[in-house]
Amino acid sequence: MLYIGIDDTDAIGGMCTTYLMTEVVRIIEKHGLSVIGYPRLVRLNPSVPWKTRGNAALSIAAGIGSGKKWVCGEYGGVAFSARETGESPSPEIERKIIEDVTALVETRARFEEENTNPGVVFLRKRPDYRFYIRGVREILSKEEVEREIAAMDGIWKGYKNGRGIIGAFCAIAWRPYRCTYEILAYRKEENWGTERRIDEASVKAMDARFRSTFNNYDYENSRIAIAPHSPCPILFGIRATVPDELIDAMRTIKPGEEIERWCIFLTNQATDDHIVKKRIGDCRPGNCVRIRGRVCSEPEVIRGGHVIFRVRDRSGEIDCTIYEPSKEFTIIGRKLATGDVVEVFGAVREIPRTVNVEKLHVVEAKAVRNKQANPQCPVCGKRMKSMGRDAGFVCKRCHVKKGRDEAVWDWIERKSLEGWYEPAVCSRRHLSKPVKLLPNR
Ligand SMILES: [Zn+2]
Repeated sequence: MLYIGIDDTDAIGGMCTTYLMTEVVRIIEKHGLSVIGYPRLVRLNPSVPWKTRGNAALSIAAGIGSGKKWVCGEYGGVAFSARETGESPSPEIERKIIEDVTALVETRARFEEENTNPGVVFLRKRPDYRFYIRGVREILSKEEVEREIAAMDGIWKGYKNGRGIIGAFCAIAWRPYRCTYEILAYRKEENWGTERRIDEASVKAMDARFRSTFNNYDYENSRIAIAPHSPCPILFGIRATVPDELIDAMRTIKPGEEIERWCIFLTNQATDDHIVKKRIGDCRPGNCVRIRGRVCSEPEVIRGGHVIFRVRDRSGEIDCTIYEPSKEFTIIGRKLATGDVVEVFGAVREIPRTVNVEKLHVVEAKAVRNKQANPQCPVCGKRMKSMGRDAGFVCKRCHVKKGRDEAVWDWIERKSLEGWYEPAVCSRRHLSKPVKLLPNR
């Protein structure tokens, strides 16, 4: 088998590596080979400092196909299929494909964009899975990846600072132990950069009808979530837990223009693969973590409407921040109280040191008490006076004292707060598993 990985050919407002991958499909077919399995769209560490967007890399396998065959895309009105398994192509065909793909990257990648550092990798087998795990959770060095590719007798080409080969390599290393699917529909080149006119009602109807799809429509902000806002070639993308309904779901969308091509990708989106369970004391900047502890400060609303609360476990304490674009999510944050048990998912930021919350599980929200009145004096029956905050009560006449806990309390039940919360659809990370997909929520 020949595995091809490509990364970082696009930048803000530029090309799109997934589009380039549909061109790679054409090259594979032109040389008489098949695409083996689905093309793969792999999201890597969202905290990598030099990546401003979704940090996506792509990979595909090419071979002499056999086994099951299914339609996985279309360009210019002609469908293309993927095959279940494949044999290695001849060295001659392999060489031609490598030449063509390299030429494609060199002609179509956006080299002029400052933060675009394209890379392409060719291998005859998949690298160890742990390289993917490190690529999605840590920062790998280009040098280590180069050594590894060389040791595997692979071919690579990195352009500009060459970091693109890291993603290209990690995308080949991924195995779909946890996975979802996305169908991407593309625009005709003449429409790139123009405003999209997707019919909103058709998106809502699709969302209601196809239960395996998710993140289609942002009901909180009344916004279509399937279409990007950049001038890239993508018209829209629909995500689902299984591939079965994706083609039908795509056909129900009224896109407002012609779909020039489409392709189904196997992806690691919505898997939480970037998240590592940690003790608070072990959280480092750049980590994406899942921590569990007790809320140890009353939530505070800061400028911009963001909400901060502090969480403690046996190993330490850390601030957690819920950002404003998700209004309903910040409202939940404001309802937290000292003593609540929570699980927080998010990325650890360095300055100020805080976890940017991308998912919140309120495990336990105990009833809180609210003082309704001072206690009555057991001797004369009059209301007692407070001796100050936390100091208890005294009867001015009889000099009888009572502790603070003996006030007349109102108990506010908060059990209904327990559950899972997440930002509005448009503010979610590609890698974050939506609450809808959690098995034991
Ligand atoms: Zn008294």
